[in-house]
Order: sequence, then structure tokens, then C-alpha cells
Amino acid sequence: MSRPPHADIDAGAGSDADAPPTATAPPDPSSIDTSRRPFVLIWEVTQACGLACDHCRADATPARHPDELTTAEGKRLLDQAREFGPGQLVVLSGGDPLARSDLVDLVEYGTDLGLRMTLTPSGTSSLTPETVADLADAGVKRMALSLDGATAASHDAFRGEDGSFDQTVAAARAAREAGLPLQINTTVCAETVDELPALCDLVADLGAVLWSVFFLVPVGRGRVLDSISPERAERVMKWLTEVSEEAPFGVKTTEAPHYRRVAIQRRRDASDAPPTDGIGRRLGITAGDGFAFVSHTGELFPSGFLPASAGNVRDGGLVEGYRESDLFRSLRDRDALRGKCGACEFRHVCGGSRSRAYAHTGDPLASDPLCGYVPADYDGPMPATRSAGD
Ligand code: SF4
Repeated sequence: MSRPPHADIDAGAGSDADAPPTATAPPDPSSIDTSRRPFVLIWEVTQACGLACDHCRADATPARHPDELTTAEGKRLLDQAREFGPGQLVVLSGGDPLARSDLVDLVEYGTDLGLRMTLTPSGTSSLTPETVADLADAGVKRMALSLDGATAASHDAFRGEDGSFDQTVAAARAAREAGLPLQINTTVCAETVDELPALCDLVADLGAVLWSVFFLVPVGRGRVLDSISPERAERVMKWLTEVSEEAPFGVKTTEAPHYRRVAIQRRRDASDAPPTDGIGRRLGITAGDGFAFVSHTGELFPSGFLPASAGNVRDGGLVEGYRESDLFRSLRDRDALRGKCGACEFRHVCGGSRSRAYAHTGDPLASDPLCGYVPADYDGPMPATRSAGD
């Protein structure tokens, strides 16, 4: 497949700050009220993909779905996205977005509206240097590619397709040659975690501006993979905070907002700062709070890993669904969280992965089972975990 399972491109400070200036300037992240607009709007333009990755969130298939948003419906969606405000970031995801013949047209249309159009194509033979150049000419601001192994053997085994590693690396180099800022997405699970140091070197070698490290959420075909344990996740996040201080690229996590808690604790330990440092301030984005996802058939979800719908954008309700639906509003209320996330002093900077809570319990407000932190004086129930690869 080529569907990056975590097909998001960070819109926050530290990512676009590393990108070259563009005609469509990104809004100041600190000025964005996430109750009014998302930092990141993902549109899954198709679930069609030539690959068959083990971890595919989208359960991608070779053929396009007959009820996909049409070109005209997609353009109406982009019209709605513009209502969020200037410079709205839109990520065209999949499946493989290149499975749509109107992709360049959609990029041009969104760019002309003033949207910042970005792309997460699959590492397939269709991603030629010519295609990359066409997309750059159409206005794509950034390209995100997935690498889940540091070698052809490990990446191709994970992706289920011989040649995917070489094609992805070639596309990454083509993106650089076309002047496109490059993001690399990596899935962290029991099958990939030992490769992270080598992948870190590869991300630097490819000249990426951002490494997006996705901690597995068991949805789609990702259910067959094993998550790492909370203890291992903690060690990986501590290591990532060290990487972020040294690497020539930015680092962000996806579906692991407790990376922020780990970073705050690390800074606090290093500087002996007061224990209230950083707590209570809103940072980053989580499902439904700075982040929204439109499925290939137009359903509005808080994220691609939290498939609870707030309506269909065919009805024109993108902006209202994001701002006013009970689902999205509840996800933005950190005081509504349950279990230890609800009792946690870091809930306003973290809040846990709502997608993982939903995948494990069916309740998007439950605790994130990947986080090993236990708030002081908390004596309520602990989330159940299913993990391996400690
Ligand atoms: S307990 Fe929940 S809110 Fe607190 S750090 Fe862990 S995931 Fe974040």
C-alpha cells in the first residue's frame, strides 16, 4: 500500500518554521484558536492503493471506491476549508492520492483558494520525478513519505511490496530536487522500534525538515501488529526528545501527545524549574482539537484513527461540524476526560491519544493505554494494554 497510516503533516511551530517561504504564508500557530479551526485538515482523497501494508489504517484496496468524493465535490470541500481562515493547511492523503487522476487539478484549485496544499503519496512506481515536479508546479507545499524500515529488506517486508523502499527513497530525493520540503513518517510498533536509530540517520541523510513518528493505533490492518509497551514508549519518547535537540530536522509524534509531557518533565528535571512549568497551557493538537479528517466518502472524523462521524461534508457542514458538533466539542474539553487522563495535571498539554482510547474501549474520552504516567494521588482504574516488543 502506500497509505501512510499517519498521514498528517504538522502545521505547528517547528515544522513550517523549517520550510522555505511560500506564497501562502502559514498562520502564526500561536494565533490559532483550535475551537474555531484545525491546524491540520486531512482529506483522504481515496482508499485506492497499489500497496498492501500490514498496518494500513485505511484497509486500502487496489480499486477506487464508487462513492468517493468526485472532483466537483472535492472542490466544494476545499471551498469549505477556506472558510476556516487564511492559509488553512490541507493534507491530501489516501490510500495513494496518486490513484486519482485529478490530483494535480485539486492541488491547483486549493492553492488558488489560498490553502496550503500538502501531500502524502505512497512509495510506488507512479511517484516519478516528473510527477513530483508536476505536483510542485501545481503548488504542493510539502510532501510526506513513509519509511518504516531503514533498509530495503525491513521496509519492504513491513509494506508488503518489494521495491517500495527504493521507490520511496528515489521520490524523497526527487522532492528535494523539486524544491519541496520533505517530511518522513515512521510507524512505531514492536516490528519497527529497533530500527528507529538507523531510521533517524536516514531521515537526516534524505534532508527531511520533519520526522513524524507515529505510535501505532490498532485500527484497520494495524490490528494485526503489536504495539510497544508503555514502558518502551516512554524510553522511545525520551530518546526522541534528545534527537530533537541535535537533529537537523524537527521531530513530532503522532497519536502520542504524552511526548509533550515527557519533554516537559525532561526540561524540568534538567533545569530544576518549578513544577507548574508548562502545565495548563495548550500546546499541540489532538483528534478533534486542531485536527480533523474527511474520509474518502466525505465523513467528518476527528482523526483517521477515530472513525466516529460528525456528519458528511457533502452537506456543506465541514466548518460547523468541526466547531459545533457534540463530538468535536467534547474532544476539546480536557476536563471531560475520564480515568487517569482526566485526573492528570498534564491533560491540557497532552490529553492522551483519543484515537487509541477509542480503539481500545470504544470511548474516545477514556485514558490512553500507551501512557505509563500515573498522576499523584490517582487511585482509579488503569487502562488495559495489549503490547509486545518491550
Ligand atoms: S495520563 Fe493521559 S493526560 Fe496524563 S500524560 Fe498520560 S496520556 Fe497524557
